[in-house]
Amino acid sequence: MYKAFLIKYGEIGVKGKNRYLFEDALVRQIRYALKEVDGEFNVTKENGRIYATAVSDFDYDEAVAALKRVFGIIGICPVVQIEDNGFDDLAKHVVEYFDATYPDKNITFKVNARRARKNYPMDSMEINMELGGRLLDAFPELKVDVHKPEVLLQVEIRNKINIYSVEIPGPGGMPIGTAGKAMLLLSGGIDSPVAGYMIAKRGVQIEATYFHAPPYTSDRAKQKVVDLAKLVSRYSGPMVLNVVNFTDIQLAIYEKCPHDELTIIMRRYMMRIAEELGKKSGCLGLITGESIGQVASQTMQSLYCTNEVCEMPVFRPVIGFDKQEIIDLSEKIGTYETSIQPFEDCCTIFVAKHPVTKPNLNIIKNDEKHLDDCIEEMLKTAIDTVERIEIK
Ligand code: ATP
Ligand code: MG
Repeated sequence: MYKAFLIKYGEIGVKGKNRYLFEDALVRQIRYALKEVDGEFNVTKENGRIYATAVSDFDYDEAVAALKRVFGIIGICPVVQIEDNGFDDLAKHVVEYFDATYPDKNITFKVNARRARKNYPMDSMEINMELGGRLLDAFPELKVDVHKPEVLLQVEIRNKINIYSVEIPGPGGMPIGTAGKAMLLLSGGIDSPVAGYMIAKRGVQIEATYFHAPPYTSDRAKQKVVDLAKLVSRYSGPMVLNVVNFTDIQLAIYEKCPHDELTIIMRRYMMRIAEELGKKSGCLGLITGESIGQVASQTMQSLYCTNEVCEMPVFRPVIGFDKQEIIDLSEKIGTYETSIQPFEDCCTIFVAKHPVTKPNLNIIKNDEKHLDDCIEEMLKTAIDTVERIEIK
């Protein structure tokens, strides 16, 4: 029955000159999302509205699911579009639409007609009255409520006529591409994909970096991160995933630094490399899935030590979330099942039995000096040999 979707989007931050940037970015993201759907669509901007119109048969559920992943959309209205073949024909379609959409007629309604085309022979008030009357004739159980109707039936007279009444909530946020780029430190865990999602939701384009330590971490662990990047990219659009070979650096830290500081020192080098890669590709910030107190490396003292190596702002959108809240969100966005696959992104030999929970920055810096003779070379090699995977 539906041939098109009217896309509703928020008005915040889209005034003046920014408005068309916002709308164009939204149109691009809608096109990208609908590519995954069985069916062809035209996505157009008309008179301050965005429509996704099907130009072939299409899978309705898939289309709605895809649109629900486009940041910037606040409402998705499935629209019946008809040609203007006179008022009687319109009324017939409206009655059919109502019957198909609301099997239970024990409801209140109101018709809200609008004419974008003023040469239509009736004005909005007349259309409202007349269509309301036809609906009441067809379904006598219906009641009109002009203040708080359960169903607000919209009829828009344009070149074609749009009929709709249902609004499916979108994800909100801002369209990707309206807010610069940031580098996500993406592990195979639950938290970092959620963190990437949350920053992308504000319109930020994402690039990702994964630290891989073969043979201590398996190819399966890497594949899991690729799979997670794909899941995040369903929201964020295509992204580059940098896979850094971190083995030599990890081994050097393991050999030369106190074992209770392994994780902190390792995390400091991860941040350094991610920032370096981020600078090269125009990122304006880093993103991690850290949450205060979750593990030893995420206490306030530990965060202070890892943060200290970065010049760029580090965004930690799940910082105040409990684990369960992060899990709930990962289930909602569809990354949870992949995140809990048992392929570890960090080999247990590199995890100390008793890691420091209150690292002291001066002591850490001092212990890092043990790496002075080799670390610069290793960092350079890690960055030069990075594998760039295009995630679509
Ligand atoms: P996650 O569920 O995201 O893996 P975690 O609870 O396992 O988080 P940590 O292992 O302490 O936490 O990592 C904290 C953050 O550091 C992660 O959220 C991620 O952003 C980054 N990180 C950790 N390990 C890696 C890795 N191997 N590659 C890329 N980023 C990583
Ligand atoms: Mg992890």
